[in-house]
Amino acid sequence: MIDSHIHADTRPYEDFEMMAISGIEKAITCAHDPLPMKSAVVTLEHISRLQKLDVKRAQENGIDLYVAAGIHPRAIPTDYEKVINKLPSILNNPKVVAIGEIGLEKGSKEELKIFKEQIKLADKLKVPVIIHTPRKNKEKVIDTILSLLSENLDESLAVIDHIDDKVVDKVVDRECMLGLTIQPGKLTIDKAITILEEYGVDKFMLNSDMSSAPSDPLSVPKTVHKMRLKDFNDSEIAKVSYKNAEKFFKL
Ligand SMILES: [Zn+2]
Repeated sequence: MIDSHIHADTRPYEDFEMMAISGIEKAITCAHDPLPMKSAVVTLEHISRLQKLDVKRAQENGIDLYVAAGIHPRAIPTDYEKVINKLPSILNNPKVVAIGEIGLEKGSKEELKIFKEQIKLADKLKVPVIIHTPRKNKEKVIDTILSLLSENLDESLAVIDHIDDKVVDKVVDRECMLGLTIQPGKLTIDKAITILEEYGVDKFMLNSDMSSAPSDPLSVPKTVHKMRLKDFNDSEIAKVSYKNAEKFFKL
């Protein structure tokens, strides 16, 4: 299995062992807001930690960890250009497979500007992008994200994450992939399964988004277990639990 969106830097060493025992082989850890990211130096140190320390901590437990690097909308440094200018060289590391997580939180002017610059860069470099959507105002913010995507990015490079039953209709016919985050406060296992039953498995990837907020490092294996108990066949389970992610991120 692949957990397509985690925050490894916030989790204890033991979580990786538990994930490996439960059948997770690969995961993608995303840049986010573990500290107030007041300057580019802090963001770049954070991204560097993901590539070195967290890749190693996961590897020691049998998890092949990949990295998504970028500026999270809740963590925009004042000198953000320095981070964007460095992204092309950061992406030269074969472990760094995407720009992310980027996106919009409140949809402020500053957020829009930095999001747009990063999706333009992804389009130019032809790298996958992990796009965060907020808990509050999700529907409205997704409309803004979709209009920015259609002008600035080949949508097949994007995964829009934290999709729920209220917004799935807006995005399911677009070119992009969709992330289902099974986490307390986001989707329950049953809600994720209802979405998969209704919309099929071709566009979706499962993730825990485990972080310092309430999360479950085993939410992907638990969802897969529940899918087995329902009427999903092996090929459907394989798609949402690793094949779609493997293809999208070229792992
Ligand atoms: Zn996240």
